[in-house]
Amino acid sequence: MARTGKAYLEALRNRPPNLWYKGQRVEDPTTHPVFRGITHTLARLYDLQHDPKYRDQLTYQENGARYPMSLLPARSKEDLARRSQAYKLWADTHLGMMGRSPDYLNAVLMAYEQSADFFGPYAENVRRYVQYVREEDLCTTHCLTNPQVNRAKSTLEQPDPYIPLGVVRETSEGIVVRGARMLSTLPTADELLVFPSTLLKEGPGADKYAVAFAIPTHTPGLYFISREGLAQEGSPYDYPLSSQLEEMDCLTVFDDVLVPWERVFIYKDLARCNSAYAETGALMHMAHQVVVLKTAKTEAFLGLVALLAETIGAEVYPHVQEKIAEVIVYLEAMRGFWARAEMEAQPNAYGLVCPSRAALDGARNLYPRLYPRIHEIVQQIAASGLITLPSEADLASPVGPYLEKFLQSATLPAKERVQLFRLAWDMTLSGFGARQVLYERFFFGDPVRMYQTLYSVYDKEPYKERIRAFLGWQPQPEPALVAD
Ligand SMILES: Cc1cc2nc3c(=O)[nH]c(=O)nc-3n(C[C@H](O)[C@H](O)[C@H](O)COP(=O)(O)OP(=O)(O)OC[C@H]3O[C@@H](n4cnc5c(N)ncnc54)[C@H](O)[C@@H]3O)c2cc1C
Repeated sequence: MARTGKAYLEALRNRPPNLWYKGQRVEDPTTHPVFRGITHTLARLYDLQHDPKYRDQLTYQENGARYPMSLLPARSKEDLARRSQAYKLWADTHLGMMGRSPDYLNAVLMAYEQSADFFGPYAENVRRYVQYVREEDLCTTHCLTNPQVNRAKSTLEQPDPYIPLGVVRETSEGIVVRGARMLSTLPTADELLVFPSTLLKEGPGADKYAVAFAIPTHTPGLYFISREGLAQEGSPYDYPLSSQLEEMDCLTVFDDVLVPWERVFIYKDLARCNSAYAETGALMHMAHQVVVLKTAKTEAFLGLVALLAETIGAEVYPHVQEKIAEVIVYLEAMRGFWARAEMEAQPNAYGLVCPSRAALDGARNLYPRLYPRIHEIVQQIAASGLITLPSEADLASPVGPYLEKFLQSATLPAKERVQLFRLAWDMTLSGFGARQVLYERFFFGDPVRMYQTLYSVYDKEPYKERIRAFLGWQPQPEPALVAD
């Protein structure tokens, strides 16, 4: 049932993940200076589910209880629309800057549940697990790629067979896994989903890597070793995003972790591992959440660049208008992908209604390429305003009157103008902003291999036929403009 922020924080306090930061165990992420911000932001997202103003958009009702909308089974296009409106509401609250709000992986879990027969002997495990996540409204994170030791070699050829995550042995209770995964964002989740993402190749011993499972983040033997925080201690005025939205990223180590049988979803099955995302519809549902999130993010950037330009009077210049128009074009492109994805939705083999993969492939392959350009536009418009940024304390200090005078702008007094530019800085230039570019480039996978996959799955034949017909090599399939 839709949980409250308090319930999330209490669960985290009572069963913290084995999280390490700068050589020390984080005993309570809800009060730790680096993790506190994101845990309380997550709590606020959960609380919105209970706000009478947003409840009906963020949750659905079943047997008198309310559940998160992101777990609503997609059985029609109307369901897809309800799902995306819920994604959008949450995304707008954080300007699209949070990649691991719980709806992201809920989209995957809903698809797995509705396509559970795909998992063969483990189908019931998947159904029971997703039902459990739904009842408790849990927050999940995931880790997909193996450590970046030697990318010229396959998983089977690494210096130690248990650098990549693999099964060491079976017991009556479950499987024991060892190794590591390169990255989990949001270690302050309740549960960790472990699935392969890159294609597993056949070979002697390869099946030990062909597993999928879910475990609580506090499972014995599981370690989250965090990167350094990018946010500095300070007020939301000084650090409007990083003080609240530092999700954090961790190397995830499995030191002989026991995964109970009931938590195993795929075991020693390369074919299922390699096709799970596409066949179950998880890929399309994940990408559906993502296109909504990126629309929200682009809307936020449009608002930002328009305000920046207006604030310092730069909007009078045609090249500045052109740059803002460029962001408008990107926004409308994302809206177009989103709308078409829902319009052309089709049921998959299990009856789950999936948004159009072609439209979503367009969105998820384009955004990593256009996002750095949006950052560039912010820098080109804001210029030195992005860096001449005193703090809230400076404004209240004896040098405050100088700031009032010299940092006023065409439309705003110094306090608001600095606040706006600090937001622009946190969106693009701070450590938090810089990570956003890396995130957009890679979070859905390596952009190079994603293009290669698109090339191989996309049906190019009808377009080749049209050219052949135009050249007169074969009959015209449809009327075409041909010179007499
Ligand atoms: C900020 C951030 C957050 C992330 N959060 C998560 C998360 O929460 N969960 C999660 O599972 N993952 C997460 N990821 C990881 C993400 O899935 C990977 O970054 C992505 O899949 C690429 O893998 P990699 O980083 O290991 O790059 P690599 O595969 O190591 O690629 C490095 C370079 O080598 C090239 N290369 C490597 N292998 C090949 C090949 N076979 N063919 C052609 N070129 C190749 C790549 O093109 C690239 O240029 C996150 C990444 C970032 C940056």
